[in-house]
Formats: sequence, structure tokens, C-alpha cells
Amino acid sequence: MTQSFRQSMKGKVNTVLGPVNPDKLGLTLMHEHLFLGMDKYAFTPEEATQRAWLDKPIAMDNLAAISERWKLNKASYHMYDEQTALEEVSAFAHQGGGTLVDVTSIGCGRDPLALARISRATRLNIVMGGSYYVPIYHPADIAERSEDSLAEEIVRDVTVGVGDTGVRSGIIGEVGCFWPLTDNQRKTFRASAQAYHATGAPILVHPGFDMTAPETLLRILTDAGVPPGRVVIGHLDFFFDYGFLKSLAQTGCYLEFDTFGLEDTSNAVTNAPKDIERSSDTQRMERLEFLINEGFLDRIVISHDVCWTFRYTRNGGKSYDHVPRMVVPRMERRGFTGDQIRTILHDNPRDVLTFS
Ligand SMILES: [Zn+2]
Repeated sequence: MTQSFRQSMKGKVNTVLGPVNPDKLGLTLMHEHLFLGMDKYAFTPEEATQRAWLDKPIAMDNLAAISERWKLNKASYHMYDEQTALEEVSAFAHQGGGTLVDVTSIGCGRDPLALARISRATRLNIVMGGSYYVPIYHPADIAERSEDSLAEEIVRDVTVGVGDTGVRSGIIGEVGCFWPLTDNQRKTFRASAQAYHATGAPILVHPGFDMTAPETLLRILTDAGVPPGRVVIGHLDFFFDYGFLKSLAQTGCYLEFDTFGLEDTSNAVTNAPKDIERSSDTQRMERLEFLINEGFLDRIVISHDVCWTFRYTRNGGKSYDHVPRMVVPRMERRGFTGDQIRTILHDNPRDVLTFS
């Protein structure tokens, strides 16, 4: 069944409303979340005054404080409201956006029918994710599950649809990991590689915060026969070493700079080596320029990775329309050509999202 599926999908993009021709995608954000529960990162502190943050609504006078302590604040880590998601993402459509990739994985609040409704209401193409995110989101029985059974679940999401919704995934990911790698994490990556072979869908990786993570994870996938050009490595904004970026680009994978608009210095990376940290949009654009000068224009994709509600416009954030509204004009002013911008925002996402 799956081989005929792969044949039938070859050359098309799988959206929540069905397959579309790749030339219909337009300007594409490769890594977003319209619905997501980051609650598995959250915890209830012992101290009453810390618990007071749990149920605080986001307001102008606590916005910075909440982004510092988002793991304590439900209003920021629950992205659950459909009307809000619709309004926030409509601004992206109004700015000329064409397609948004929602890479919320299994167990993270993925909502196929709500994505389909938002796609109809906004006329945006929405490509839904699948596979397994970081270990705290793995199913409880992950240790007993075989690689085959994990792969079957990912394949079913792509070929049949999630549950009985009939809404199908168009990308395998974000496949997540913490560092160091564990056997269960290796298993989710190998299962994702199997799912690629069965479907031809691309794979999107959320690497652990270690300089060796991206290449190690890419190698697990390529050892399992996935061509590097079918893999997007996400969150490379966090990696400051240009030599590292160049050697990763030389493998032939796509390099994703996916937290454009997040410049909040109160929102720091913890538990990572010091060369892994948040960037500014200027630093992100400098890395794009470096990679273009090195000849890797056709490997770059960008996005915002909106994953907390304090990134919504209504909460003082830059939301889903920041790239077309603010980043593109800044790229133009820095000397990016129209062709280069088109390659990054239209052609590269189109090429990687097209089933092979
Ligand atoms: Zn993400």
C-alpha cells in the first residue's frame, strides 16, 4: 500500500486539505505552531509566591517577567485557543503569506481538524507535522515500542490521516531530541527514516543543544538511507560557529533559522554550552549572508517558531507575520537580491516539502 502511496504523492505537497501542486505554496514559513502545549516543560514550584505565576494572565506589566519564567505560566505555554490562532495567523495571510508548516508533533497538542478549519478560513496552505518530539513528550510505553510500530504510526498519519480525522501530515517532524542521545531517541529517528522511505515526506529535526547534535542526528538518518536533501535541521539560530554551519551545509541538508522575531534577552537558553544561545535577527541575517557567500543559498529556510503566547501580537510579540512585514525589507536593505529572498522563502521550502 505504501509504495503506491509514495508513487501517487510524488511531486506533490501534502496539506491538511489534501495534496497540492508545489507551485501553489508561495511565501512559506517552515517551522511554526498554531496549537501547542509546552506544558511538559512546565512544573509546579514549591514556593507559594512562585506558584502565583501559574495562573497569571499575560499583561503589559509582567510580559518580560513571564517570558523569563514561561515554564511557570499556563497563559504562555498553552497555545490552545482557535479564535486567537486564527486572528494571529491571518496577519501572515494579509502580508502575502502562502503556506505555513505546523510542526507540532504527536503528543504536543496537535489538532488536525482545527488546522483544517484555519486553512479554510485563511486560505493559507497548512502542512501538518508528525513523528515524535523530545523525550518528555514520548508516549509512556516508548521503551517497549518497536521501531516498526513507531514508524507505522508516523506512516499512517501521512497516508491515512491522524485518527479518524482524515487529515494527513505532510512532514515528518519536528523529530526532537535532548542531549546526550538515548536509545529511545535513536529509535524515534530511525522510525522517522522508515517513514520517509514509505512516504517520501521530508523530515524536520529539532536537535539537542550540543555542537555535535545536528551532524549526529543527520548521520542516523542518512545511515538509514535518507538522502540529506530530504532533511531540514531546525533551530540553527542557536549555533554561533560559522565553521560548524559551513560543514553542516556541505552535507547537503537544509539549514533552518527558525526563531526570527525572538530577540528577548530575558528568554535565555539554559543547560547548554556557552556557544549555544539565542540570536538577534541581525545575527540570523549575518548567518544567511555567510552561507550565501559560501554557495549554500539553495539550502536555507527561515521561520519564527511561535511556540508561546507571549509571541502573539496581542501580547506584544511579533507573531507569524514578522518575516514578510519586517525581515524581508531589512534583507533588501542589507543587499539581499529579490532572487535570493525568493529562493529562501519560496523555492527552498517548495522543494523540500515536495514528496520524493
Ligand atoms: Zn518548534
